[in-house]
Amino acid sequence: MFFHVVMTTECNLQCRYCFGETLDDFDEDFSGFEVDYALPRKANYDWKQLADFCSRDPDCVLTFYGGEPLLCTDEISQIMDMVKPKHFMIQTNGLLLNRLKPEYVNRFHTILVSIDGEEALTDHYRGRGTFKKVIDNLKLITKNGFRGELIARMTVMEQTDINKQVTWLLDNNDFKFSSVHWQLNAGFWGNDYARRDFKRWSKENYIPGLEKLARFWVDQMEEKGVVHRLYPFLGIANSLLSGEASSLLRCGGGWINYAIQTDGYVIPCPTMWGMKDYYLGHIRDTDPLNLRKVFVGAPCTDCDILGSCGGRCLYANITQRWSKEAYAQVCKTVRGLVTTIEEHLPRIQQLIQNGTIDKRDFNFMKYNGCEIVP
Ligand code: SF4
Ligand code: SF4
Repeated sequence: MFFHVVMTTECNLQCRYCFGETLDDFDEDFSGFEVDYALPRKANYDWKQLADFCSRDPDCVLTFYGGEPLLCTDEISQIMDMVKPKHFMIQTNGLLLNRLKPEYVNRFHTILVSIDGEEALTDHYRGRGTFKKVIDNLKLITKNGFRGELIARMTVMEQTDINKQVTWLLDNNDFKFSSVHWQLNAGFWGNDYARRDFKRWSKENYIPGLEKLARFWVDQMEEKGVVHRLYPFLGIANSLLSGEASSLLRCGGGWINYAIQTDGYVIPCPTMWGMKDYYLGHIRDTDPLNLRKVFVGAPCTDCDILGSCGGRCLYANITQRWSKEAYAQVCKTVRGLVTTIEEHLPRIQQLIQNGTIDKRDFNFMKYNGCEIVP
């Protein structure tokens, strides 16, 4: 099982799509859900409880998460000294990576670092100077011996040209990433759709950009024998190549990937913090291997591509913060992604057959924090 360990609800950045939206979202009606808004700001349970909880699952993977988890470097070190999961991972904005000692950083199996593409775009979304500081820290941890997987985790919305930014992350003069994942800022807030340009942008820019990027991805396989680890493509292609009939929620949320709140309660996904109906137990007395499973409901259960999509996002499905019409635009992007990869499949299979690439190039650790369907 995979668990996001929410170290703190605080963050040291004020990104447009997160902090900015929280301000606008504050007076929105979150009707029908009882929410505990008074969670501790920092994880406040006994680490021994976490150690015992984790020890009951031989395949337990813990991912430090926040807010910004590296605001709690001391607590992270303490947990890494005491708890013995199969792997540790972290999702971070990267600004404080220099504060955690290399002996801990180098133990991470995977680091997912938030970066949206080139400097101007990243700083536009995340604040001036963010890009440079993050890149400096990535160079530092690499110099200090980090050899795990480093995934650039982009948040994508209307200012993003997906093809341009992903190809830039793969090849540039600042820091070349070998793994990239992206998530659409779509369906998470209550009242942003009406003032945004999501419909036009997704149709005229994002979906055509995906098609262009997929062509580039397969061209690179052919020309260089390299399968770039672009997670949304990798995940869909992996399913198609292995003949997987149908996928559950690809992020694993609610069935194999859960989150532990700052008060020790287990929830299906970090975004569902405080939603009392979805408290699945407390780590002090819950068996990690026997957690209740929570699956997506309508409209996903009536969707003809549920098997390939998996449902995209449990939080969005449950809370339905975007109207049916608005969310239909998101579903069109999912359809666009799946169709594009399906169209390229014969070419990919041919490249595997003639030995240019290997089917194993499409393997990855599932539920590592990449949701696959953006
Ligand atoms: S495409 Fe949309 S409706 Fe269909 S399964 Fe995915 S998220 Fe659900
Ligand atoms: S896709 Fe949705 S349910 Fe899955 S981890 Fe992200 S926010 Fe949670």
